[in-house]
Amino acid sequence: MNKWEENIRKVVPYVPGEQPQESGVIKLNTNENPYPPSPKVYEAHRKIEIDCYALYPDPAASELVTALEQYYGLEHGQVFVGVGSDDVLALSFLTFFNSDKPILFPDVTYSFYPVWADVYRIPYECPELDENFRIKPEDYRRENGGIVIANPNAPTSIGMKRSEVEEIISSNPDVIVIVDEAYVDFGGETVLPLLKKYENLLVVRTYSKSRSMAGARIGFAMGNKRLIQALTDVKESINSYTMTMESIRIGAASLEDEDYFQRNLRKIVETRESAKKELEKRGFAVLPSQTNFLFAAHQKAEGQYLFEELRQRKIFVRHFNGERIGNYLRITVGTDEQMKRLFEALDEILGE
Ligand code: PMP
Repeated sequence: MNKWEENIRKVVPYVPGEQPQESGVIKLNTNENPYPPSPKVYEAHRKIEIDCYALYPDPAASELVTALEQYYGLEHGQVFVGVGSDDVLALSFLTFFNSDKPILFPDVTYSFYPVWADVYRIPYECPELDENFRIKPEDYRRENGGIVIANPNAPTSIGMKRSEVEEIISSNPDVIVIVDEAYVDFGGETVLPLLKKYENLLVVRTYSKSRSMAGARIGFAMGNKRLIQALTDVKESINSYTMTMESIRIGAASLEDEDYFQRNLRKIVETRESAKKELEKRGFAVLPSQTNFLFAAHQKAEGQYLFEELRQRKIFVRHFNGERIGNYLRITVGTDEQMKRLFEALDEILGE
């Protein structure tokens, strides 16, 4: 090893789901929305003039921040925006988890959490989910340097009640509790109303799933003004201009079409529930989902085998290795037509 190599920060990176470049793939592997964003988003995009690119964008992303504050009925200074919720979450880890005590998150959850903890040298511990893949709030009563909970959780798809999340927040007044609500629009119970009650709560959301805008890279955090200011200070110590002028404009435009948003959510939820039944008919155990994906294990066929067989048929789902979840597939809810193709492929593979 060269001497200079000792000074390199070594990390094991997060591995995102595949983004296939070939055509004809049914992509049910990264929890994107199968429907396009609102026509209002297209309209806002069309109006962007090319000469805007000569200038830096607004570092405060005020148009988007104000639109979000209004949409959620918050005061000015309660919203922070970033390049997808991954950016917002990474900055939140850096800003709020500065203790020598370990932060806590479940053993089965978003696999980016341990990666951010490692890259920022934050110690962590992972209380185990119970036998039904549920978070046990009482496990979060031990000493810690902060908590992050995905609600609904991923990849399990299971949501906690607001009262259960509140139990975690209220029993941890001395640390910041981050609630990652990436999937909450699909039927979870948000803790947003608790922002009035707890100043140690930060709620993180994304445009990538429910707003069909994964490619725009927009995420945001909501919390009390001191938390938002602290996040802003850290962000501005790294990069002032994270949000492009396009993402600011189209992000704000998406909030103007509530009808479209609600219809889109309803479609996904309907497809999810019918897909759950179809999977059960074919011998899968499917966890109750409050998200835009299903977490399912077949009674006989192994997860890795099904993943590979589906992949050969150009149907991409997600499979994670891991003691408790190795037999499960995480299947994004696509259109009805895409799900039909999935079931046809499964029938072929399972020899029905
Ligand atoms: N949180 C959870 C629980 C997720 O599953 C994802 C999607 N991979 C994210 C956050 C990040 O999404 P994005 O960066 O696209 O907002």
